[in-house]
Amino acid sequence: MPKFYNTLTRKKEVFKPLKKGNVGIYTCGPTVYDFAHIGNFRSYIFADILKRYLEYKGYEVKHIMNITDIDDKTIKRSKVEKKNLKELTEKYTKEFLQDLKTLNIKKADFYPKATEHMKEMARAVEVLEKKGYAYEKLGSVYFDISKFKNYGNLSKVDLKGVKPGARVDLDEYEKDEPGDFTLLKRSTLDELKRGIFYQTKWGKVRPGWHLECSIMSMKYLGETFDIHTGGIDLIFPHHENEIAQSQALTGKKFVNFWLHNEHLFINGKKMSKSLGNYYTLRDLIKKGFSWQTIRYFLISTYYRQRANLTFKKLEVAEKSLERINDFVEKLYRFSNSKGQSPAKSEKQLLRILKETNRDFEMAMDDDLNTPKALAAFFDFIKKINKITEMNAKIAEQCLNLAAKFDSVLGLKLLERKRKKNKIPKEVLLLIKQREKLRQKKQWRLADEMRKKIKQTGFWIEDTEEGPKIKRI
Ligand SMILES: [Zn+2]
Repeated sequence: MPKFYNTLTRKKEVFKPLKKGNVGIYTCGPTVYDFAHIGNFRSYIFADILKRYLEYKGYEVKHIMNITDIDDKTIKRSKVEKKNLKELTEKYTKEFLQDLKTLNIKKADFYPKATEHMKEMARAVEVLEKKGYAYEKLGSVYFDISKFKNYGNLSKVDLKGVKPGARVDLDEYEKDEPGDFTLLKRSTLDELKRGIFYQTKWGKVRPGWHLECSIMSMKYLGETFDIHTGGIDLIFPHHENEIAQSQALTGKKFVNFWLHNEHLFINGKKMSKSLGNYYTLRDLIKKGFSWQTIRYFLISTYYRQRANLTFKKLEVAEKSLERINDFVEKLYRFSNSKGQSPAKSEKQLLRILKETNRDFEMAMDDDLNTPKALAAFFDFIKKINKITEMNAKIAEQCLNLAAKFDSVLGLKLLERKRKKNKIPKEVLLLIKQREKLRQKKQWRLADEMRKKIKQTGFWIEDTEEGPKIKRI
């Protein structure tokens, strides 16, 4: 039985679904105002591993991920890009789904959009108002956290400093400053002009960010469901507010298991656009890293531990994948060999297979410890490489085990034409152009070209045999 660390209880608990054999998972999805950054994908790969492992264990999983297509950020960005809101959010939704596909993240069963659930949200707020949890002020509707006695249970946020009636109007707010939060926000003049509003009994409004996750998760998974995932930065206020709204509405427990992944840092720092240490998936692929390398790197740290992305670490991940690849190639070679009858190594093999399977599952059962599971796999490679009497039958059994593990890891380990790490085309073109300049002895221009190449993350060293390219 797998055990998961439940943020609600701060304990590892044996996982038991509400309905035998079935699991409902809700993952907070992207706000589609820009490309998602690589830290976001840590969350989605973690949820993917969770889902894959539950499926491996024989559960039928229903997975829902919302698309936030109306909020402060999307509205602001659409104005900057001079697009209408729908145009902007549809563009980035498409790009997001493409990125998930690139990373071999299994599709959710449904990606509900906030803008398509406005009626349900308004209806829920009416119920909250009737029950005394919601109040209107200047055309916006707020949730009164003082009325919900379990507020703060998930995040353990300090409620001492809260002034009664203090309101937070933004979709996002600073940590540890709880206050009444927006359920429905009065549309601004600008939003009214652009047609971004919904008519309700309180006037023209748009939904707050927290409300959509409560309404959409319960619509597709029921009033109480099994697992809710997200990054730790969502615990407060987002998930705290989801619990308050949902439980105030239904009077029932909202979610049994809350699973949160830690941050991804870049070069030891929190990612931020202003610091320039910010990568999208596409940035990393342009630098020549394969999706497998990126996925491998992201699962090689336990999800509840902070991970730190550096190019060096990606290169280490690349090497580990190469080792697996060489092993798989070897197995394929033997699986095609005209096999002898099972060698005496077979007994030894069966023992290794059994041990590996046990170690892998033990690691995954222990709160999805992927680094330990990967270690079990490398141990397996070591042991098998020691078997001298390899034959087709042994190779085939090893390939089967690798395929079984890969159904959880999602690295397409058995895919034979794995793309080797390549220098991107655009960089190759620049290098060619620079060579031409050098032949014409236009040193200054060649030097400028080198700087340009450096900006793409590569460094050229001129040697006697010609230019050598290194990743910075
Ligand atoms: Zn959410």
